[in-house]
Amino acid sequence: MRNISILGSTGSIGTQALKIAAMHPERFRITALTAHRNADALFEQVRRFQPLMAGLTGVNENAVTIPDDLKTIDWRFGSAALVAAAREVPADDVLVSVVGMTGLPAVMAARSAGRRVLLANKEALVAGGQLVMSCCADGADGPTLIPVDSEHSAIYQCLKAAQGNAYRTIHLTASGGPFREMTTEELQNVTLEQALCHPNWSMGAKITVDSASMFNKALEVIEARWLFNAKPEQIHVLIHPQSIVHSMVEFKDGAVMAQLGAPDMRVPIAYAMAYPERIETAAPRADFAAIGACTFYEVDPERFPAVGLAYAAIRAGGAACCMLNAANEEANAAFRAGGIRFTDIGAVVNETLSRVGNMPADSLEAVYLADETARRMARQILNSMT
Ligand code: NDP
Ligand code: MG
Repeated sequence: MRNISILGSTGSIGTQALKIAAMHPERFRITALTAHRNADALFEQVRRFQPLMAGLTGVNENAVTIPDDLKTIDWRFGSAALVAAAREVPADDVLVSVVGMTGLPAVMAARSAGRRVLLANKEALVAGGQLVMSCCADGADGPTLIPVDSEHSAIYQCLKAAQGNAYRTIHLTASGGPFREMTTEELQNVTLEQALCHPNWSMGAKITVDSASMFNKALEVIEARWLFNAKPEQIHVLIHPQSIVHSMVEFKDGAVMAQLGAPDMRVPIAYAMAYPERIETAAPRADFAAIGACTFYEVDPERFPAVGLAYAAIRAGGAACCMLNAANEEANAAFRAGGIRFTDIGAVVNETLSRVGNMPADSLEAVYLADETARRMARQILNSMT
């Protein structure tokens, strides 16, 4: 039996993790749950899973009435609730599935309390990779950080199977999103509704827009850099529209190992939750004959500048990746609010990075300062556009 706290339990990843937990009540006990503002969904989850603690991170204590039947639970409110749920409740694992760099302090808090982190929140690694990795070395009880992102879970599984042999290259696959065939002119006029229609994966709104802009893959290149201690030239992004090969790892003898399956996040979520065992997920099986063909091609850097910006930020070092993430969070939110065109997202991130100087990222305070500096610049650029 493992005790698991889920941060961001009302989101796409969080609800799927609870489905896995519900399928295996003999294996998982839920110890804490948090949502941001969706109190009604959280009340239902708390009723069903009876955690010790529950938190509403975006709500003031006076703004919500806790139902009578849930008053015995330890309720927390505001941003402190996230760190409290990560650290104060006795748990083996903390699934960090909130969206945005707000996940970083939660990861650090969970590790400071000795919890294993199951990491969906890629922004934490992108913004504070150096800090996260410095407290996530494998311990006597096994790994202290297990990736949930499907590509990184795939790479992780391939490396486990490689039994200590070093990889030469990571082939990080990308669906290419809904706009992969569009011209630059067509990209300028895409709507939010179109961006929210991902061809293969069902996810939260922010990451779905990131997938369309390929900033999701940009963040994932940085995520891979930290998780697998990869040099930028060891990470090769490969468009694979069918999303069946979740990523591949190439070794010095030329052999390539891949992890495949139908695109369903319950598989990597369950892998992290039950590690090192494999458990039932109810995910659909890959029907290879029905799929027929898997295709692969390179990213077009002209139409999708995001991936190139990630490589440049990794090479710049310091807080460049943190600033890329901050500018993207701002630009992604502005696009979702209808304030800018789709192609402006990349332009805003590029412009922010060229206007702000680099900064250090060696402490939580330094990361927050770099994050805030980049956000302020991105907002200034966004204001001048609208
Ligand atoms: P969702 O938007 O679906 O869910 C986000 C969750 O975090 C919700 O519980 C939400 O609460 C909560 N939340 C939102 N804002 C904040 C905040 N400022 N502080 C604390 N909690 C907050 O996101 P996803 O589940 O899609 O993604 C979660 C993370 O996992 C992201 O970092 C994403 O990049 C990553 N990821 C997601 C994948 C997917 O398939 N969805 C795949 C791979 C990675 P509320 O419901 O109250 O708003
Ligand atoms: Mg992914």
